[in-house]
Amino acid sequence: MTEPALGFRRWAVTYDGRTHEAFLRGRVAPAIWAIDGWTDAQCVPAAAPEGAEPHDAPDRDCECGLYAYHSLEPALARIHNEPQLLGMYWDNSEDREVIGAVIGAGRVVVHGIGWRAQHARPVVLAAPEARFSAVADIAGRMGIPTVSLGQLARFATEFGGRLRPP
Ligand SMILES: [Zn+2]
Repeated sequence: MTEPALGFRRWAVTYDGRTHEAFLRGRVAPAIWAIDGWTDAQCVPAAAPEGAEPHDAPDRDCECGLYAYHSLEPALARIHNEPQLLGMYWDNSEDREVIGAVIGAGRVVVHGIGWRAQHARPVVLAAPEARFSAVADIAGRMGIPTVSLGQLARFATEFGGRLRPP
């Protein structure tokens, strides 16, 4: 794949216990997303099929990789079976949720509703409410903009394709 894939997803905000800096964290797989560039997917043993050999993520026969939806709508929808996925840590506090657009690059496994990629990075975050300043803080440190949720899809479509994969 030469062009990076554009997608939409949600994160939870998590805070470094020592510095109190805010970071984006996966809501199902609890990986912390990089502030300074591409996040690299790793296969978490709990996510791999029983007996699977260690492999680079994403693997077509596994569930690993950095996930995103093709469009914004499913990222906005409540997905009720998420707490059961992988049996992993789950933080359901909605006031810590962040929605944004990402690009995926490297090896990308495409599914009907989205994709999972080897490398991914946010390109724009939706700023939900002024009181939730962690989003603006994270976006500022990432060097990416925040827009209103209503502008997110259009902005991402115009902006995302300009970025180059690693
Ligand atoms: Zn895997």
